Amino acid sequence: MSKWQELEHQYFMNTFERLPVTLVRGQGARVWDEDGREYLDFVGGWAVNTLGHCHPVVVEAVAEQVHTLIQASNQFYTVPQIRLAELLVQNSCLDKVFFCNSGAEANDGAVKLARRYGKLNLDGAYEIITTMGSFHGRTLAMVAATGQSKFQQPYIPLPNGFVNVEYNNIEAIKAATTSRTCAVMLELVQGEGGVNLPDDSYLTTVREWCDRMGIPLILDEIQTGLGRTGTLFAYQQLGIEPDIMTLAKGLASGVPLGAILAKDKASVFTPGEHGSTFGGNPLACAAGYATLKYILDQNIASNAKRVGQYLTNGLESLRQKFQFITDVRGRGLLVALEFSSDIAQSVLMACLDRGLLVNRLKPNALRFMPPLIIGNGEVDEALDILNAVLSSITN
Ligand SMILES: *Cc1c(COP(=O)(O)O)cnc(C)c1O
Repeated sequence: MSKWQELEHQYFMNTFERLPVTLVRGQGARVWDEDGREYLDFVGGWAVNTLGHCHPVVVEAVAEQVHTLIQASNQFYTVPQIRLAELLVQNSCLDKVFFCNSGAEANDGAVKLARRYGKLNLDGAYEIITTMGSFHGRTLAMVAATGQSKFQQPYIPLPNGFVNVEYNNIEAIKAATTSRTCAVMLELVQGEGGVNLPDDSYLTTVREWCDRMGIPLILDEIQTGLGRTGTLFAYQQLGIEPDIMTLAKGLASGVPLGAILAKDKASVFTPGEHGSTFGGNPLACAAGYATLKYILDQNIASNAKRVGQYLTNGLESLRQKFQFITDVRGRGLLVALEFSSDIAQSVLMACLDRGLLVNRLKPNALRFMPPLIIGNGEVDEALDILNAVLSSITN
């Protein structure tokens, strides 16, 4: 264990099962550890570094903003915040934006917004329907929203007002809808929960159901948004529109920034009802604007679609070869590889040894969420390493 790793054990709370690597630098799709070893990064800061590490447009925008204005209170207008809000609205189906600092905070705020909507328009309805296997963040309320008992059990009692129902089952949503329901909140692909893809018809029926009941649909696009799945937002591929949408991860290339977007009809906060000290500060929004502008101008989402398909095809070929691979699934550059037994950790460690970073999604599955700027060459490199690692497992 290196000096830094020993110090971490001494000083940091025991919350992360870290891999034995201390990263000190990144560029594009590569990172380097404290010994100068290079890795191809298919974790991408956990689906955050859409443009790769230290992309020049982000570096320049942040550097310029650091010299200009880093933080101002939200009592004042600031330019980067307004420019980013305009760009988000112009390129989505939503009309208004609120900025915060993380995904959990965005979802928490979206739930508050839905509750305000419920108070004003739905006779005081306050309950949110969410799904099993979802992931909406780590605040106490978002743990209650997240339909996975491993996140909930340690913290019982949880805040009430959340009902977790089966994913990809419209009847479950219908059965859970009551006069208390003020919103349905969903991921279009369950990211942390397993890269679970629902039937397209599920999402359109949920949309129809929400319309029929007059309740807002909140789409959590924190992992799927910003080009990850092959369009700027995943909802654009599915023929539905959210009333409220949340973003974070890929929004500002790693400078912490989250957002709640809503249609005019659902933008019901009035002054003082919600707020944030750091949320939407000039630094984060300058990074966000540079990131989003580049994603749009360079059509990064279609690159994610093309290269994602190439990656999926390559993984499918590996599946033909290794019968212990049981599934390849995903959208764009959010892809999972599932095994018939719990070998994900040992595959991950062997990849690490050969200079490839991947994420263990479940004991028997890996996830790939590389920067969206990669090309087929990087995918080939990753596939070669995986092929070598998987071959050594069969032998
Ligand atoms: C990561 C994630 C969150 C939580 O985001 P944080 O920034 O870690 O709070 C919420 N929802 C989804 C879908 C996510 O992938």
